[in-house]
Amino acid sequence: MICGFCGFEFDESDGKHGCGGCSGGCHNVHCPRCNYKNPAESGVAKKIRGIFEKYTQHKGEEG
Ligand SMILES: [Zn+2]
Ligand SMILES: [Zn+2]
Repeated sequence: MICGFCGFEFDESDGKHGCGGCSGGCHNVHCPRCNYKNPAESGVAKKIRGIFEKYTQHKGEEG
């Protein structure tokens, strides 16, 4: 993933998870370079993509 603040490219597993400093629990991936909290959206994006794929597939079958 690419840091939204400094543009540093790093693997999501290299970022800092669960820093303990974010309110309501850390659900972000902190940049190893600048510590900016990037929203961990890859999982959500995957889910959304899966839903859309299912939807379009179903539509295609009918058409
Ligand atoms: Zn950064
Ligand atoms: Zn955090």
